[in-house]
Amino acid sequence: MLTVDDLKDLQGKKVFVRVDFNVPQKNGVIRDDNRIRAALPTLKALVGKGARLIVTSHLGKIKWKEPDSEKIEAMKAANNLECAANRLGELLPETKVYFCPENTGETVKKAVSELKDGEILVLQNTRYQKGEEKNNPELAAEWASLADAFVMDAFGSAHRAHASTVGVPEILKGEGKPVALGYLMIKEVENLSRCVEVKDSDRPYVAILGGFKVSDKIKVIDTLLKKCDYVLIGGAMSYTFKKALGAPIGTSPFEEDQLDYAKKCLEEAKGKLILPVDSVVSDKFDENEPRTIKVVDEIPDGFEGLDIGPKTCEEYAKIISKAKMVFWNGPAGVFEQKDFQAGTIAICEAIAKLDGKAFTVCGGGDSASAVKQFGFKDKFSHVSTGGGASLEMIENDGHLPGVDVLR
Ligand code: ADP
Ligand code: MG
Repeated sequence: MLTVDDLKDLQGKKVFVRVDFNVPQKNGVIRDDNRIRAALPTLKALVGKGARLIVTSHLGKIKWKEPDSEKIEAMKAANNLECAANRLGELLPETKVYFCPENTGETVKKAVSELKDGEILVLQNTRYQKGEEKNNPELAAEWASLADAFVMDAFGSAHRAHASTVGVPEILKGEGKPVALGYLMIKEVENLSRCVEVKDSDRPYVAILGGFKVSDKIKVIDTLLKKCDYVLIGGAMSYTFKKALGAPIGTSPFEEDQLDYAKKCLEEAKGKLILPVDSVVSDKFDENEPRTIKVVDEIPDGFEGLDIGPKTCEEYAKIISKAKMVFWNGPAGVFEQKDFQAGTIAICEAIAKLDGKAFTVCGGGDSASAVKQFGFKDKFSHVSTGGGASLEMIENDGHLPGVDVLR
């Protein structure tokens, strides 16, 4: 695969760059500009090479199935990418950054033709086009016709085969034009690949899986059970496994239709699948109501398990302390609430203690935000910027549509 570094002679060339500017914002006020900052190394490198950049990204959701056109217009207005373009301009004071309020048609063509070397044109939110998510060939062809090269740096969108992530590079590649990975993509792909192509020196390889549902994570569980030496289970999903073993789980959530799957996993995993031995439980899962919180081995009727308990934390920390590689997805408890944070923090601490002695990766939207919230981001070898994309990369043995198209 080509990378930004391989792209030579870009002076005067138009490069279609797909970034992930899907920032949290309201009324154009950006709460967190990390995703914009994450794209800067690639954008700066291309600007430095004298390229003319056509920068694209999606922002939020536009539900095209909505029959009321006024509601569609309201969704568009709420997801105008102009705020991200403005922020990019502030972050790159030496570079001319323009915003085009449209992303197809004559206005775009004209704006692109007026671009000078080393300048950036940010096009409107790709999802303003109905065809984006369907990878509509005409839309992809129109975008491809604007450019001489393609750079993919939107890791958070690389699991989606959309017009701007897969359609455009497919066409340009077919025309013999260069398509390449940006720096953020290189970092993500390198780090996550190591978790799927496991070397002997990376063993013991320990996975920690948590979060809400077994059904959301079946492919990840299957893949990691094949590759890892230990798979430690936490989060709500642990109660489906517990239930499958016939253990009392009180009113904890479990998935009836995943019980057979959970049983099968437990049988086939031959001891490498580890379940919590205690839980922090409550008889009311509602922040506004008084509740009773207890630590128990077996969950009594009327109580719900909301975090792994201290014995489990200790056992998991012991296993983690021997690891040479760790992949973590899914919080161990309802980390959004103070009473149920301890398990997730204990896992962060156990991983932090490995500092330098093991390769440690956190992937998944909520897990990554927990790691950041508790101040452990720097203690990991890699915290993925892509929630869904990092999981799909693990699930699909290192493959993602937005990466494979660049091969
Ligand atoms: P990720 O985004 O990292 O892949 P998930 O989306 O699968 O993780 O799960 C995150 C959610 O799981 C969090 O909102 C957390 O509150 C919830 N969760 C974790 N443990 C429990 C539990 N025991 N009961 C209910 N919800 C839980
Ligand atoms: Mg999530």
